[in-house]
Amino acid sequence: MSKPPAAPPELPGHPHIAYRAGDLMVEAVPVSHLARQFGTPLYVYSRAAIEQAAQDYLAAAQGKPVSLRYAVKANSSLAILQLLARLGWGFDIVSGGELARVLAAGGDAGKVVFSGVGKLESEMRAALRAGVQCFNVESESELHRLNRVAGELGRSAPVSLRINPEVDARTHPYISTGLKSSKFGIPQGLARKAYSDAALLPHLRIVGIDCHIGSQITSLEPYLDALDRMLDLIRDIEHHGIKLEHIDLGGGVGIRYANEAPPTPAAWMGALLQRLENAGHGHRQVMFEPGRSVVGNAGLLLTEVLTLKSSLERHFAVTDAAMNDLMRPALYQAWQAIVPATPRDGRHARRYDVVGPVCESGDWLGRERDLDLREGDLLAVLSAGAYGMAMASNYNTRPRAAEVLVDGEQAHLIRERETVEQLLGNEQRLVF
Ligand SMILES: *Cc1c(COP(=O)(O)O)cnc(C)c1O
Repeated sequence: MSKPPAAPPELPGHPHIAYRAGDLMVEAVPVSHLARQFGTPLYVYSRAAIEQAAQDYLAAAQGKPVSLRYAVKANSSLAILQLLARLGWGFDIVSGGELARVLAAGGDAGKVVFSGVGKLESEMRAALRAGVQCFNVESESELHRLNRVAGELGRSAPVSLRINPEVDARTHPYISTGLKSSKFGIPQGLARKAYSDAALLPHLRIVGIDCHIGSQITSLEPYLDALDRMLDLIRDIEHHGIKLEHIDLGGGVGIRYANEAPPTPAAWMGALLQRLENAGHGHRQVMFEPGRSVVGNAGLLLTEVLTLKSSLERHFAVTDAAMNDLMRPALYQAWQAIVPATPRDGRHARRYDVVGPVCESGDWLGRERDLDLREGDLLAVLSAGAYGMAMASNYNTRPRAAEVLVDGEQAHLIRERETVEQLLGNEQRLVF
């Protein structure tokens, strides 16, 4: 007696990624074909899903004084930056390396905001020469350093001060950046003094104010709380004769990894803009820096099951992807769905810990997942488009994965698999 085949899992929140005739597809391409062609581990993205997410934000911003600045750190691959640049997005960068990426992808330096708690002078110079829109400055010390560097170049640096509004974003502590104890930003109590000081520095031009309270926030309240605090500050600062052109509210909405129900970009932005309007700031330029929600659910990490093994207590599926490829589970105990490329009938389903080959007990991709597996099967770790490849490392001398962008029936290799030769190439042997 054979059981009927189990229905393939539904993948809500993952547009353009679905099962068709028993195969997991990204747009019109079965991921099993991609594994055969490009090998594993492999990052796979849907162009349509990225563009749809970007368009959702553009639609929400339509007709409003809103600028969108994609947070490059979420996924900095050139082809992905190109897609966003073509749609008119600007970029939020946190390093000179990210600036170089944006420029290489055809991004407009005039739409770049430079965030980060520790900018190098060389990075400040590169950003000034490129003509970035704004430096999001995080300390008094940085104000003075930027003023000096700008003076040496004979330029004026546009600045916004990143304020820590001290609200609890109620997300994972590692991605909560607006707590009182956080290293980020200028404490709100010191903001007015910082603005007064900045106004006296000859090579700075104050253009705005910004905050970023954290990532993967799935409710509106923390954003609204932060906005209210920012508006209080703006009143205070402008009362002292300093004009602010824009307010930058930081990253975008959280995404659905499991069963979260984050607001849509339209609902989220609508609520914030409404609050601004009600407070008499409807005229003001507003900036948002979404990262995760643009690319997160547009990507997956494809991996092959190398080995199935069991201890007395547990079953393990050892995959060829590991924490160096996808760090979020190890770093944040993050949960990401893991689904088979070609589901089996479920008769041999077991509860597996899906782990990588790296020599760390923290090297797991998912725990206690009910899967029906054979060695050689392909698994897809979903919601891997953001903070996946961008965080990949070479730990255990593992070359980084390749990346493919699917566009309809086409698959573009947008990053070749790294080689061990490349890894060794930077190193110098001792000569005895
Ligand atoms: C990380 C970061 C973002 C992006 O946040 P998401 O949650 O990915 O949208 C935006 N702004 C700053 C300053 C950041 O550090």
